[in-house]
Amino acid sequence: MRRRDCLALAFSPLLGAAAGPRTTISARSMRLDLVNTWTTVMSSSTFRETLGVSVVSGGITGVGEGAPIVRYNESAAQGIEIVSGLREVFAGADPSQYVKLLDRVFAKVDGSWATKAAIDIALHDWAAKRLGVPLWKMWGLDRNDAPLTTFSIGIDTAEVIRRKVREAAAYPVLKIKVGLANDEEVMEAVRAETKKPLRLDANEGWKTVDEAVRKIKWLEKQGVEFIEQPLPASMLSEIGEVRKRVDLPIFADECCLHPEDIPRIAPYFDGVNIKVDKAGGLHQAMRMIEMARALKLKVMVGCMVSSSLAITAAAQLSPLIDYADLDGNLLIKNDPYEGVKVVSGKLVLPERPGVGVVARG
Ligand code: MG
Repeated sequence: MRRRDCLALAFSPLLGAAAGPRTTISARSMRLDLVNTWTTVMSSSTFRETLGVSVVSGGITGVGEGAPIVRYNESAAQGIEIVSGLREVFAGADPSQYVKLLDRVFAKVDGSWATKAAIDIALHDWAAKRLGVPLWKMWGLDRNDAPLTTFSIGIDTAEVIRRKVREAAAYPVLKIKVGLANDEEVMEAVRAETKKPLRLDANEGWKTVDEAVRKIKWLEKQGVEFIEQPLPASMLSEIGEVRKRVDLPIFADECCLHPEDIPRIAPYFDGVNIKVDKAGGLHQAMRMIEMARALKLKVMVGCMVSSSLAITAAAQLSPLIDYADLDGNLLIKNDPYEGVKVVSGKLVLPERPGVGVVARG
C-alpha cells in the first residue's frame, strides 16, 4: 500500500466526521379517528390523515407532525414524497443548525406548508433534545405565561351542539363555528347550556358586508369576545368596512397564512390567528408573532385536527400569545402521543426535553 493510501485509511473516521453527522429523515402518514364527525363551512369528515416526520442524528430522534390542508391541495402522500426527495439535503446536515437547514428546505420545496411544518417541528424537537431542555426553555420562555385554550364546537344539530357543550364543561372558554344560515339556532343551543365567554369563527361563511354586520351586531349581545374571518379571504377591504360598523374585535385566519401576509392585512383586523401547519412550522410562526406584535395586533395560535405531537409543538409558542385555540388533539380517539395537558382550561407544557411528547403505550 502506498503511503498516501495508508494515511487516508488511518484518518478516514476523522474525514467522515469533518463531512458532518449522518442525518436521516423519514415520513409516514398517521390516520387519526375523530370522536365526532367534524363539520365546518368547508368540510365534514370522520377521520384525518396527518404527516409524521422523524429526523435521526447522533443517536437522537426528533419527531414532527403536520396536518395537510385539502384547501391548499396538500396530502400526506405528497408529503412523504417531498420528504424522500430531501434525504440528500439532510444526509450531511447538522440538525442543531436548524435555521440554515430550514432555509435549504424552503428554497427546495414550493408550497406544501404542512410538510414543512412537520420537518420544522422534528428539527426543533431534535435541537432541544440535543441540549436536554424543553423547547419553551430553549426559547427563553416561561411556561406559566401560557393562556387558557378554547374547546371548539363544530356545526351540528341543536341537540348535538347542546351535548358537546355539556361535554366541554371543563373548558372555561368555548370556540363556536358559525357561518351558515342556522347561526341563530347554533347560538341558541349553546346559550341554552352555558353562559361561558365564546369566541366565534365564521370560517369565511358570510358573503356580504351587510350580512356580516347584521350577524355580528346580533352576536355582540351574546357574550362573544371576538369573531374570526367573517368574510372570504379575498374580501379584505370589505372586512375593513365590517370592522368599522361593529364593536366586536375581528380576527384574521384564512387571510393570514405567512409572515408576508401580516403587514398587508394589519389595517383591516384587530388580531390574527396563526397556524403552524399553514405557516410552514414554528420558525415561521414565531416570525409572524413578532410581526403581529410590532403592528399592535392581538395574537392567537390555532391548530388543525392533529395528534398531541403537533398540538404540543404549537403550544410551545403559547407563552408568547394572547389567545390559544389548541384543542385539535382532543377531537381524536386514537392519539398516538401524550404531551401538553389542559388543566382548568390552561395549557400546561411538559418539562420533558424537546417538544416533550411520549408515545402512548
Ligand atoms: Mg379559523
